[in-house]
Amino acid sequence: MPRLTMDDLILPFQIEATALRGRLVRFNSAVDKIITQHGYPDAVASLLCEAVTLAALLAGALKYDGVFTLQTKGDGPVRLVVADVTSAGAVRGYAQYDAEALAALDAAADTPPVPRLLGSGYLAFTVDQGVNTDRYQGIVALDGGTLAECAAHYFAQSEQIATGLKLAVARGEPDADGKPGRWRAAGLMLQRLPAEGGEAEHPVVANQEAADEGWNRALSFLGSCTSAELTDPNLPAEDLLYRLFHEDGVRGWPAERLQALCRCSRERISRVLRSLPRDEMAGLEVDGKVTVDCEFCSTKYEFTPAQIEALFDAA
Ligand SMILES: [Zn+2]
Repeated sequence: MPRLTMDDLILPFQIEATALRGRLVRFNSAVDKIITQHGYPDAVASLLCEAVTLAALLAGALKYDGVFTLQTKGDGPVRLVVADVTSAGAVRGYAQYDAEALAALDAAADTPPVPRLLGSGYLAFTVDQGVNTDRYQGIVALDGGTLAECAAHYFAQSEQIATGLKLAVARGEPDADGKPGRWRAAGLMLQRLPAEGGEAEHPVVANQEAADEGWNRALSFLGSCTSAELTDPNLPAEDLLYRLFHEDGVRGWPAERLQALCRCSRERISRVLRSLPRDEMAGLEVDGKVTVDCEFCSTKYEFTPAQIEALFDAA
């Protein structure tokens, strides 16, 4: 396999002996950029890193041209988590949380993150391919301990696709000046797709018993991967795959780049303002201007009353 040391990437692969497909996502700087834009508490930051990684893994499984969005809504301290990925590899995300409820959590309790932070609610996936196209929507209750478990439930229940998923988040050590360490995240996903096309001819895929064995073996290789290995910035993606799956042969396809990039613009924000009732604009004014923050990247867009008037007059 060609060695790639790209910072943020998605690497699709196949396990040769069993024709199983998988994807590895590695984020070394993109998730740090996303978190730094917000300054979230660690628990929220970690959850958002997982959500962004999961979104990249799931989006990588689909053929689409547009935006894939993952969203959680729950009654816990973190009310909302949104992560989206474009088919060009731009990722972004944000969370909404109740700081008081978060601070009130028992730090010593050993509750997994989903019941602890998100509570009861749902995890939803949407694919938006532009106007006049169908929106694919998947939805599953938040009934796992982790986001990875919730997503695996979704595939098992709604799509009848056996799925193995692992997500890991890590943070580097603070530097000599005490600047906090950078966030990293990674995820590994294996799916057992129904045999189709040429794969039905595969000697293992065509043999149910051997295919079951191959799947169980692949899951145990996946299970053997530690969070430290998954997020190790000094372990190239290809080397990690080789380490885990070499017994059954593993082949990587060309990796694709991922990057933290918001799609907001003054024009988009203007469109949102124009969609609101004109007589509510005055109520949004603070210190003689209307300021709109992009929830994804925290960029501030300011509009003077004259600019607001011009927006509505133009519309
Ligand atoms: Zn933005």
